[in-house]
Amino acid sequence: MLYLVEHFYSIQGEGRYTGSPSLFFRFGGCNMKCEGFGCSEIASDGSEVLGCDTVYAVNKEHFSQNWISITEANQLLNILDLYEFPRAVDIVLTGGEPLIYANDEIFIEFLEELHKKGHQITFETNGSLGVDFVKFPIYKECIFALSVKLSNSNEPLRKRVNGDVIYSIASHAKEAFFKFSIDAESINLGLEDEINSIVEHSPKTKVYCMPLGGNKAEVEANTEPLIEFCKTKGYNFSDRLHIRIWDINKGV
Ligand code: SF4
Repeated sequence: MLYLVEHFYSIQGEGRYTGSPSLFFRFGGCNMKCEGFGCSEIASDGSEVLGCDTVYAVNKEHFSQNWISITEANQLLNILDLYEFPRAVDIVLTGGEPLIYANDEIFIEFLEELHKKGHQITFETNGSLGVDFVKFPIYKECIFALSVKLSNSNEPLRKRVNGDVIYSIASHAKEAFFKFSIDAESINLGLEDEINSIVEHSPKTKVYCMPLGGNKAEVEANTEPLIEFCKTKGYNFSDRLHIRIWDINKGV
């Protein structure tokens, strides 16, 4: 069984395909917590839950009562009929961490049907979980935005960086690129070595750096220091348009 948190039709707000009309499927659950990002949500029992900017899609204990249980692929495929698209739009699979379902037969059927319908499929993943490209060749047709977590996530290194997984995805997927969330403080602490040690697992893969933040004010505060960092290091700057435009609103 899979958990779906929400779906919405919007524009891609970050990374290489910024601005592309995209249908987002946000899946529930993650193999990390990333409490270092310092975002929080109030759960229905009134408790404040610390995590990343999508903690409501990560923390099963406090938020899964709002998640949709998916027991067959058609539940996901029928969602496409709820929207009017001018063409086969890009599909973005995000979370939480969508690849916790990488071996699930419902998930595989969903991917194969999307591909048959002509949709471009992009995973937004933390890049720590392996994908079986031999058993499930559909993954070779997908794009992977590798948002590998840095030390500012407060996750242990052995959990957040798996060089073999990064190399495998970058080598076998239709396309892959790195996407890092960075704040001004981390730049001052010398983040370059950390990024380099991750990128060296796939040196030809493009790097996009985005301002860290769970709301518009935080994103804005981190933007200019990050642009200067990108100019110095030769990385691509990526905005986070959805936060800049819609701030903390979800499902847009
Ligand atoms: S890996 Fe991504 S979704 Fe999971 S807790 Fe960290 S930032 Fe959130």
